[in-house]
Amino acid sequence: SDSVNGVVKPRILLMGLRRSGKSSIQKVVFHKMSPSETLFLESTNKICREDVSSSSFVSFQIWDFPGQIDFFDPTFDYEMIFRGTGALIFVIDSQDDYVEALSRLHLTVTRAYKVNPDISFEVFIHKVDGLSDDHKIEKQRDIHKRTNTDLTDAGLEQIHLSLYLTSIYDHSIFEAFSKVVQKLIPQLPTLENLLNIFISNSGIEKAFLFDVGSKIYIATDSSPVDMQTYELCCDMIDVVIDISCIYGMPNTEAGLPHDKDSMAIIHLNNTTVIYLKEVTKFLAMVCFLRKESFARKGLIDYNFHCFKKAIQEVFDVRVKVQQSRKLLNQR
Ligand code: GDP
Repeated sequence: SDSVNGVVKPRILLMGLRRSGKSSIQKVVFHKMSPSETLFLESTNKICREDVSSSSFVSFQIWDFPGQIDFFDPTFDYEMIFRGTGALIFVIDSQDDYVEALSRLHLTVTRAYKVNPDISFEVFIHKVDGLSDDHKIEKQRDIHKRTNTDLTDAGLEQIHLSLYLTSIYDHSIFEAFSKVVQKLIPQLPTLENLLNIFISNSGIEKAFLFDVGSKIYIATDSSPVDMQTYELCCDMIDVVIDISCIYGMPNTEAGLPHDKDSMAIIHLNNTTVIYLKEVTKFLAMVCFLRKESFARKGLIDYNFHCFKKAIQEVFDVRVKVQQSRKLLNQR
């Protein structure tokens, strides 16, 4: 199985009708393609497009409907795949008629739930960039009502679907992906706690833990997230990656232009400072603070050092548990 430093990566299945936007989402979120370039993406007919990108914290597979998935084909071992899946994202094209998509969604969810009731079911109501705000809410309400009616009729009202309004033309797709990934991280409450302690002891207003490769945030402190702050973080990561790619030392080991010692500071003209520091090979912390607090950078760096050590322990414990489970299974 895929692992990063022994930690098993969360596995995500991306499904939906052909042309609903799955490849575009993958290219934009994980491969830094610009949204307008996706217009020229070729339609592929491969059985599944696997992405076990070594530069990110998550791994996923893409499946197309129709064509690839035939639940009645005995050679198609969907059971094994659903068993190893953490989240199933179903992409619906909101600019198209979605009756067919909803029936596929229902079929998939009910099948998957029977095999693995622990899967989190995530529905991306996608391509909402062309819709007005009222129209978006309306679509979401309609899809919510129809899917729930279908599930209730099937006697499966215990299945919970989470709905997101997404578009590759703004940050909504990153925000939605962040929420999906966060659900798959068992250490999330611990990470949030550590971030809370870190910011309150350092005079920091907000801190995010980012998967640098995808700009997905895997945790933040418990103060509310506003979209503008999140977008600033994404922009900062882009700047850091771009500068590192141009001027940085190539880090051949992981093929990444940044390493565990990378850091960056940006002073905004409204007395806010954004401070980015690498935590591990994949993860970086991005903090928002006032200029006055940044004067005590020594304290922040010391607290950061403690935070980093704690994070390593959190992930190490998990590796040890996984290893001992493996040993037990071998007996
Ligand atoms: P797939 O068959 O599900 O992998 O779909 P593609 O990724 O090939 O996308 C089909 C088309 O939808 C492409 O022309 C994309 O440019 C377009 N598309 C994807 N995401 C969005 C979006 O968020 N908004 C808009 N307007 N178009 C999108």
